[in-house]
Amino acid sequence: MTRPTHCLSCGRPVNRYAATCQHCGAAQPQKRLGGVVGLVGLLLLLALTVVWALFGG
Ligand SMILES: [Zn+2]
Repeated sequence: MTRPTHCLSCGRPVNRYAATCQHCGAAQPQKRLGGVVGLVGLLLLLALTVVWALFGG
């Protein structure tokens, strides 16, 4: 079940996982789970970049 989220600033539907509105750029309130997933994803991306830099070149 997907529940569309609307921008608090311009009222357009935005991706509920997006940190900012793709229409007006206003920051959107994030649920804790989304923030954790984003943080873990960022850490994984950072770790992957480090591994790539160490072994990829
Ligand atoms: Zn907006």
